[in-house]
Amino acid sequence: MPGKAQNPAEFEPEHIAISKSRGVKIDWKDGHRSEYPLALLRDECPCATCTGAHGTPPQKSNYSNSSSDPFPIFKPALKMLSVEEVGNYALRIHWNDGHQTGIYTWEFFRRLCPCPECRNKSL
Ligand SMILES: [Zn+2]
Ligand SMILES: [Zn+2]
Repeated sequence: MPGKAQNPAEFEPEHIAISKSRGVKIDWKDGHRSEYPLALLRDECPCATCTGAHGTPPQKSNYSNSSSDPFPIFKPALKMLSVEEVGNYALRIHWNDGHQTGIYTWEFFRRLCPCPECRNKSL
């Protein structure tokens, strides 16, 4: 692809609703709707530390599975402290567990969409 093309509609948010204690909802320009629970966003953090991009072992959190843990370690409920927009193409989320290096691009959000329709087609 030559040059930097405009984002296709499926990777352009029309509207973003952020709840610091519940998660993020995005209405996309192509009409699709996505809802991301906090645990999913935290566990899928795309930063180098969490994904092991620097050759270090990935340090994935496991908030999504904590409810099925028969012996849950006491920890405060996951929350977003703040969310800032990064140059019109991404969100940066500051978590209450101290983590804040993840930059979540729109494309990343769209590929992460947990709805059955998106889960059934492998993007
Ligand atoms: Zn991370
Ligand atoms: Zn979807």
